[in-house]
Amino acid sequence: MSRSAQEFRRAERVLVGGVNSPVRAFKSVGGTPRVMGRAAGSLLVDVDGVQYIDYIGSWGAAIVGHAHPAVVEAVTRAARDGLSFGVNSPLEVALAEEIIARVPSVERVRMVNSGTEAVMSAVRLARAATGRRRIVKFEGCYHGHSDGLLAKAGSGLATLAIPDSAGVTAGAAADTLIARYNDLSSVESLVTRHRADIAAILVEPIAGNMGLVRPFDGFLQALRSYADDIGAVLIFDEVMTGFRVARGGAQALVGVRPDLTTFGKIIGGGLPVGAYGGRREIMALLAPEGRVYQAGTFSGNPATMAAGLATLALLDDEAYARLDAVSARLARGIEDALRAARRIGCVQRVGSMLTLFLDVARFDGTHPLPPVAERAYARFFHAMLDNGVHLPPSAHESWFVSLAHDDATVDATIGACARSLAHPDIVRAKSTHAALETAAAPDPDHDSRHRNDQLT
Ligand SMILES: *Cc1c(COP(=O)(O)O)cnc(C)c1O
Repeated sequence: MSRSAQEFRRAERVLVGGVNSPVRAFKSVGGTPRVMGRAAGSLLVDVDGVQYIDYIGSWGAAIVGHAHPAVVEAVTRAARDGLSFGVNSPLEVALAEEIIARVPSVERVRMVNSGTEAVMSAVRLARAATGRRRIVKFEGCYHGHSDGLLAKAGSGLATLAIPDSAGVTAGAAADTLIARYNDLSSVESLVTRHRADIAAILVEPIAGNMGLVRPFDGFLQALRSYADDIGAVLIFDEVMTGFRVARGGAQALVGVRPDLTTFGKIIGGGLPVGAYGGRREIMALLAPEGRVYQAGTFSGNPATMAAGLATLALLDDEAYARLDAVSARLARGIEDALRAARRIGCVQRVGSMLTLFLDVARFDGTHPLPPVAERAYARFFHAMLDNGVHLPPSAHESWFVSLAHDDATVDATIGACARSLAHPDIVRAKSTHAALETAAAPDPDHDSRHRNDQLT
């Protein structure tokens, strides 16, 4: 047994499912997760020394590449001066200034320690600002694991939410209303029915947590109008897209100004972080100026702030142009490999975020991804892993390209992709797919057999 597999067994004895965050457990792709010893540039290196080209990038945080010397140096310097003071320091001000300079809708900022906290706190602020209780969120968008946002759609379109996790009360989910991404009629019906109760419309301006899905032209503009019309707060959750898709985040690309924005991932340069900010008068409701309470022992700690500042310092216009060019090359290469394999699929991309959806011609988030597409991805994922490429272990995630990914990295990835699409399992899946398409209903036995194949 490899040392990686041994380490995972060891983890399973003391960590739930062997992991500290569920997606890492490979439940949706099957198999045994690799245990990594280190990461450098565009590579993950497992504890056996096997290298993988990495498209997880710490879920987007590693935009300049892992262990970038400038980031390591900044963190090292900060560590020497004390990791966390629990009182004020200049670095937290410098990072706030940098965020404000890049994002015009953000006039003041509050640092926190995760994206979850950032969104949870922005929602609290929106409720205080409006004196209302309900939040409109979109099916397929992820906003962290706070109770009220771990809610999925009940039956029917545009509906009241039901808890999506055990341990969340119906009461906690009751104030969450679920609409469909890219489907304005679902928003319209919620706004019509609940207009006086809606505190905020909360959205990933470019969705990254159902795989990469871009908003159709006018979708976010319409959300802006609905929010203005009913006096609700528009919150853009840019924990993933912030400083990823453009210098000023997704809002710079789409040209819509939200009232509040949440950040995370990239602004911590690889250390745990979150932040939220927006209109001055809304932010002024926050303690100590106002009556909305929110605090944090490690908020704005110098090590994280230094890592975030060093990361943002590397992200100039040239860096974004480079990320876009390298990512475009990757997307083109995958599309060519799909054509060569005569395989239906599509690559959806915005800047350095992209997702390959297999067995569908496009995915806009208005309907669930068909199960065949998820199973195809699972097999593709493993074929890619065997070919030295570590993709996110779910069909519903974005792949992240970093500044450390160059043309050679991308060409190696495209080669692995061509080999993976020609893999017997993948080809077999294609004929299975055709059989399922012609059948009136998928045979459930067949499905579970497949899944069992997967897991053994
Ligand atoms: C990752 C993410 C979160 C949660 O951030 P954590 O730091 O994992 O708590 C929230 N919203 C979006 C859009 C995210 O991508």
